[in-house]
Amino acid sequence: MMSQMRHFSLKMNDGHTIPMLGLGTSAPSQVPKSETEMAIKRAIDIGYRHIDSAHLYQNEEEIGRAIQMKIADGTVKRDDIFYTTKVWGTFFRPELVQTNLERSLKKLQMSYVDLYLLHHPEALQAGEDFFPKDAHGNIIFDTVDLCTTWEAMEKCKNEGLTRSIGVSNFNCKQLERILNKPGLKYKPVCNQVECHPYLNQSKLLEFCRSHDILLVAYATLGSDARKKWVIKNKPRLLQDPVLNAIAEKHRRTPAQVALRYQLQRGVVALAKSFNEQRMKENFQVFEFELTPEDMESLDGLNRNMCYLQDLPQAAPGRVASHPETVGRMEGRGEAQLTSHVSRKSVLLATIMPLRSTALFPSEANLKAPSQQEKKKQKTKISKRKRIERYKNKPQCIKKRERKTGTKCITLSATVLSRWYLHDLFFLSYISVTSKFRG
Ligand code: NAP
Repeated sequence: MMSQMRHFSLKMNDGHTIPMLGLGTSAPSQVPKSETEMAIKRAIDIGYRHIDSAHLYQNEEEIGRAIQMKIADGTVKRDDIFYTTKVWGTFFRPELVQTNLERSLKKLQMSYVDLYLLHHPEALQAGEDFFPKDAHGNIIFDTVDLCTTWEAMEKCKNEGLTRSIGVSNFNCKQLERILNKPGLKYKPVCNQVECHPYLNQSKLLEFCRSHDILLVAYATLGSDARKKWVIKNKPRLLQDPVLNAIAEKHRRTPAQVALRYQLQRGVVALAKSFNEQRMKENFQVFEFELTPEDMESLDGLNRNMCYLQDLPQAAPGRVASHPETVGRMEGRGEAQLTSHVSRKSVLLATIMPLRSTALFPSEANLKAPSQQEKKKQKTKISKRKRIERYKNKPQCIKKRERKTGTKCITLSATVLSRWYLHDLFFLSYISVTSKFRG
């Protein structure tokens, strides 16, 4: 199994290799952290050697413990494992990039990681909050130049804290910015992006290939709708009839076909599962091959549809105010605009960097809400807060009960009076007609 896995590795532009199949570890918040530790141990036993995580996932302690246990019981050596972590946007200031990595290393009980990625292109205000927000609930971005952040990444590689460095959620323009940086020491080895048959990233893949940058696919199985970040009510990839027909033809599962599709395009595929059976199933992706016709049919499923939101919940309705976020959407192919991003704000944000002489616009250049918008939002928030604060107070409960009581009395009175009127009308009708007859 081990040698088979090594065989299915790709060489990166810095000479290191990366296993083509990786285990994703980002789970919905309701999954207990102890499950991560169990899953990693199980995955290593099955044969997985590539593990993907990030500071954001807050599971590096559990992952580190599991890997150390598997090293201690002789199943693997540290060098057999390919481990990826990512620097979150609140650590994009050059002096913080290494701090983020050192924190991860401490939790992992490791002296180096194999791959360190910029998690996304947007810099966020530095601090302990993953999603720093202002009083109106809008996310606070930072104005750090991506190129200076990249220089700090290069320093981490030079210091031996990571073997390779790369990016995630970057579009072609953002990649070009790094590639054209004067004095560039190391190119990104990869770009990790959402990629599956419904969003196949063919243009970005072509661009990356032309620059010897690998594409690493996440949400290859359509992600998990229980996650906060995942847009609900989208068609489920694994239920797609074409994908299912191809799977049936090969006597495989739709998940295996979705993963195999990526491998045959030269894309590194991540798949998250904490379930032993499904982990095994996903690992059997090297045992069959899709025909060129199958690949063509799967290419035909592309509809530029994203499952994941950009910095969700953090800044509903405001995310596109950051020019790098708009760029990210282009990076996802001609991705559909998600519900929380209006076309107008995207357009504004696209125009803004063109108007700005600086490559990285200051906060003042970012689209600010108008006074009227601010006022509206403030009233909405305070009304919601008031309702939340008072809804469970005893006097409010009593008031609600009193209101309900009054409503019941009014209703019964109305019904009774209607009956009464109806009967009165009926009786007078009878007496008139009987008199007439009589
Ligand atoms: P995913 O791997 O596409 O899908 C995970 C979901 O599919 C889970 O609900 C899993 O459930 C289920 N699943 C796994 N194998 C299956 C099978 N054989 N049949 C049916 N269902 C199966 O989604 P993801 O977790 O969003 O993405 C993968 C990884 O990429 C993440 O874990 C993370 O490491 C990385 N990622 C990176 C970024 C970034 O911004 N760079 C963003 C998102 C994700 P069970 O666990 O119950 O099996």
